Amino acid sequence: MKMLLILAALILASSQVFAASKSVRVVYITPSDAGSLDRSAIAAEAVEHNHRIWSNNGANFRYDKIVKVNSNYDSNWFINNSNTSFGDSKWFWMANAFSEVKKAYPDAVLNDPNHRYIIFLEVYNAASNSGAAAAAAHGVAVMPKWIIDRIEGRHFAEVGSVGHELAHTFGMPHEDCTDVGETLGILCNGDYPNVEMDEHHYSRIFSDHYKDYFYEEPIDLFTIGKNKILKGTIHKKIPNLDINACAKACLNDNVCSSIVHYNNTCEFRDGSLDNAWDFNNYDSATLKEHNHLAPYAQRENKILAGTITKSVQGLEYEECANLCTSDHQCDSFVYGGNKVCDFRKGTFDSAWDFNGYDSAIKNLSASNKFRLDRHDIINGPIWKRTQGHTLNSCAQSCQNDLNCSAFIHHEQTCEFVDGTLEDTRSAPFWSIINVWQNKAYTSGARRHL
Ligand SMILES: [Zn+2]
Repeated sequence: MKMLLILAALILASSQVFAASKSVRVVYITPSDAGSLDRSAIAAEAVEHNHRIWSNNGANFRYDKIVKVNSNYDSNWFINNSNTSFGDSKWFWMANAFSEVKKAYPDAVLNDPNHRYIIFLEVYNAASNSGAAAAAAHGVAVMPKWIIDRIEGRHFAEVGSVGHELAHTFGMPHEDCTDVGETLGILCNGDYPNVEMDEHHYSRIFSDHYKDYFYEEPIDLFTIGKNKILKGTIHKKIPNLDINACAKACLNDNVCSSIVHYNNTCEFRDGSLDNAWDFNNYDSATLKEHNHLAPYAQRENKILAGTITKSVQGLEYEECANLCTSDHQCDSFVYGGNKVCDFRKGTFDSAWDFNGYDSAIKNLSASNKFRLDRHDIINGPIWKRTQGHTLNSCAQSCQNDLNCSAFIHHEQTCEFVDGTLEDTRSAPFWSIINVWQNKAYTSGARRHL
């Protein structure tokens, strides 16, 4: 009987341990030769910056307040003390940094089942490390002194490198970062903060291994319509899934952006909630806007000349665009007249001029014809200014205008400017500290004139 009680107590204790949520731990380490240097606030700000970007994409990770460790060891020790837990001598700095983390977190272990680690280490690692880079392994990311220098200098690539290395600790591999002008993945820190998440990242975030680090459930990334059926084409049907598992399957699919769920059945199905049938016991859900944005190149007073594949009446322009966005067979649409929304093929070059109709073409590979400079403003006269633009749509509208060779984008403003990337001035400081409100300036210039 006593034995049983002890056993029960043990089970209770262990279940409480497992119930504790997982979190990212952030540690700032200064070596003994760093004097009174303390840039922990800068490090914390960089983590929060990335946290905001991730949260905007539906990946709000739990993290603990930054902890400071003033080491008794000097920079030389971090570089040269032999500790092979991360590999050969090139990685001593990482291994030694992690061993010092235990002063703040005695329970820290490599491949920690409950924690990821971001360590800021005020030590130059250039001499010892061929890449002179930040790095991540065994669930631990280490950002050395040169990265902190660059973050303090407000260079976005290195602010983004914190999220890049954190992504590695969640098992995310490198991705294609070459499509200049498109919004790239979070591992493309060169484009930070204009980065986003897609199925490439969600498959890790919502894996059993890592999901407890995040506040969201897969379904939280969708807008839900209870008792509704989307009207579009069914692409896939999967039995025996609850709605959360259905949402997760959709997130991990590179085509799916909306689902219908009923009776434990999951369908990947096109359509918009604004234009769905009412039907009891069926629920539909469409990915929220921050995911899979499909920006459009748009022309006023034009009608595309190709075939009409679908026609819907009584929609507002935005509803028509949303409908096309969620239908992967829709490449372009024409909107106008008496609220007519036509999915219609065609190009701007062959479009008819027609007052009261606007045409929009999905910007699938967008503006890779531009070189971009994220934080500088091209000097030169601005000759056109339009509002309501994303970076992509601004670049696209410049591309569509034969007279436009360069543009400046900030907030939702798109300016066509005469000038080059070789002659720029710095963006104002306020735009840099407000990047998560999209106030940052980006300049773009055509690659080939
Ligand atoms: Zn990497």
